[in-house]
Amino acid sequence: MGVFDSVAQEQHESVHFGIDHASGLQTIVAIHSTVLGPSLGGTRFYPYGSEAEALTDVLRLSKGMTYKAACAGLDQGGGKAVIIGNPATLASPALFRAYGDFIEGLDGRYITAEDVGTTVENMEIVASRTDHVSGLFREHGGSGDPSPATARGVFVSHQAIAMLLWGSKDLTGRRVGIKGIGKVGMALAGLLFEAGADLIVADVDDVATEHAATTYGAKVVHVDEIHQVHCDIFAPCALGGDLNESSIPELRCTAVAGSANNQLATEADGDRIRAAGILYAPDFVVNAGGIINIAAEQGGYSLEKANTMIDGIFNNLTEILITADKLGIGTHTAAERVADERLATPGQGGTA
Ligand code: NAD
Repeated sequence: MGVFDSVAQEQHESVHFGIDHASGLQTIVAIHSTVLGPSLGGTRFYPYGSEAEALTDVLRLSKGMTYKAACAGLDQGGGKAVIIGNPATLASPALFRAYGDFIEGLDGRYITAEDVGTTVENMEIVASRTDHVSGLFREHGGSGDPSPATARGVFVSHQAIAMLLWGSKDLTGRRVGIKGIGKVGMALAGLLFEAGADLIVADVDDVATEHAATTYGAKVVHVDEIHQVHCDIFAPCALGGDLNESSIPELRCTAVAGSANNQLATEADGDRIRAAGILYAPDFVVNAGGIINIAAEQGGYSLEKANTMIDGIFNNLTEILITADKLGIGTHTAAERVADERLATPGQGGTA
């Protein structure tokens, strides 16, 4: 499929390609929607196998941001950026300055933040060239690393699931499997541990699993086995596509709720997981804590205000899960309908 066909498929407003020869920057910014406000989404720095793969990722992720913001009731649109390359070898102050200049050129239609492969420190450099960046250090008026906020949103989603399925939001003794013990996964493990849950974890990074084992008493399994463990809730917190044609029949959990974006490999997998009798909490509802935290910068950031807004995910998710059940539709479809309704009636007021 050609570039314009790819962009037309999900009705993106625009896609922007940036290059800086001196620093090696190659970036793609996808603006999916500015209907509810400027598009907001992080910058993913990743060694994509091809430019087509990078384009596919940024198109999918930016659409997900539109739905995430709309579902969370925020007056923001959806966008995303990718930088192609390995951050361990390619990242440099010069690259992030060039990237900042590129973002500045988009004139505020896209506001960036950190994501996989980028850090708050990187965004501070971007901010030296443009105001259209969020999630800066708290001492610089920003909301800081969004990962703890995202983890909080996943945690309250687990409580919402527990309330719905088991009649109490108490997670004591519940078995939770976490795939990906990174910034969000580890923070989630901490919250679940404090709540008395039993943890099973997997990560390609042995240092991370070792830390989870010693700090939170987590049992460690291989990354190829984590989705098969018997547990109450499976939390995919690594990369996308973990719920697919081959993995869904192997799931042994009651529910799925994690932070990873685009967990369903295809739309059909949403129906497949429903048919398997597993409650799937839509990723863009569950992992909205980070973007809500950034939205809390409006009018002055405070952690208390942000946490109150993030805790709203409990009710948002509960309503979506109940609606899906009543209508006999997939939970992902129910969530998309909520977002579509907001997008069709801009100006009806959000919560941010
Ligand atoms: P991260 O890079 O800190 O953590 C990802 C972890 O997954 C790493 O520890 C990595 O080693 C591990 N991993 C990678 N491939 C794996 C595999 N095949 N099997 C098992 N583990 C694997 O990223 P993060 O910020 O914690 O984000 C995790 C996910 O949540 C991503 O999909 C991200 O897009 C999504 N998300 C993050 C935020 C946020 O605030 N950070 C917000 C919304 C969504």
